[in-house]
Amino acid sequence: MVRNKQRDCFARLQAHGHRLTRPRRSIIETLITQSRAMTASDLHRALAARGVSLASIYRTLELLTRLGLAEPVRQAGEEARYIVCQPGHHHHVICTRCWHVADVDACLIEPVAAAIHDATSFEIDSHILEFYGRCRACQR
Ligand SMILES: [Zn+2]
Ligand SMILES: [Zn+2]
Ligand SMILES: [Zn+2]
Repeated sequence: MVRNKQRDCFARLQAHGHRLTRPRRSIIETLITQSRAMTASDLHRALAARGVSLASIYRTLELLTRLGLAEPVRQAGEEARYIVCQPGHHHHVICTRCWHVADVDACLIEPVAAAIHDATSFEIDSHILEFYGRCRACQR
């Protein structure tokens, strides 16, 4: 599962004409195996032994975000955290104690979008929705 997600992310990066450099590979691997929303500084600490510079972490996160391979999540007043994402529309539930992330595959929002359309006559093209709480381990 983790393997597939990694392979898929590497392939999508390369399909956009970008090389799978060692720092890029390490950053993607770390984000996927930890399945946590991580800041650039978290990644820098995690990858210290592999000598990945903070500058290359920022550049890579920016590239992954631009290609839609990573998604930043922000809480007011905090450094952005990044999640590596599978393709296709989905939502996340994020633990605010340990930043563990789980994908919510079903979109539960279509009826809400329909109600908003009725109320405002807007044609709704997209939405972003994240759920925050405490994961099972953090509830103890
Ligand atoms: Zn995702
Ligand atoms: Zn947690
Ligand atoms: Zn949705």
